[in-house]
Amino acid sequence: MSNNHSKDNPSENSNENSSERLPFRIGHGYDVHRFGDGDCIIIGGEKIKHHSGFIAHSDGDVLLHALCDALLGAIGEGDIGRHFPDDDSTYENIDSSILLRQTYQRVTERGYSVANLDCTIIAQTPKMSPHINAMRKNIADVLGVSSTQVNVKATTTETLGFAGREEGIAAYAVVMLYIMTD
Ligand SMILES: [Zn+2]
Repeated sequence: MSNNHSKDNPSENSNENSSERLPFRIGHGYDVHRFGDGDCIIIGGEKIKHHSGFIAHSDGDVLLHALCDALLGAIGEGDIGRHFPDDDSTYENIDSSILLRQTYQRVTERGYSVANLDCTIIAQTPKMSPHINAMRKNIADVLGVSSTQVNVKATTTETLGFAGREEGIAAYAVVMLYIMTD
């Protein structure tokens, strides 16, 4: 999609990065957490009983971390590790909803809002389907958008790979942003 805005408005500030004014931006995120000690996991802000917990510096919410990466990717600002380093004690055991809220604040400060987002959780166990709608609502509430703009789905890997061996859980997220007009 071309951006002819500056051509139409030659007096506009030429120092402004033209990429900032793109009407749409897309981002992709991926995260994995390994199972460890514990009896529950947190995914999409939902606490789910399980035979293991996650090994993580934060609460290990693999879905919200993938989503943070997708949002940061969409605005061209790196990844979650750059903004919330795992050697920083501030983020020890932190509720990842806080990380998502802070990440989305960066997005809105750049003048963008979520059009829609789509996520996939890769998990052999536990069963995700009973929790999907609650995850959608949690994410929508943090971002201040409608649940209809948030899609969460889950799949097993038919017992293949690390997820299939129940060593951990992965998540993918794709997000579309649109520019907010005054
Ligand atoms: Zn993570």
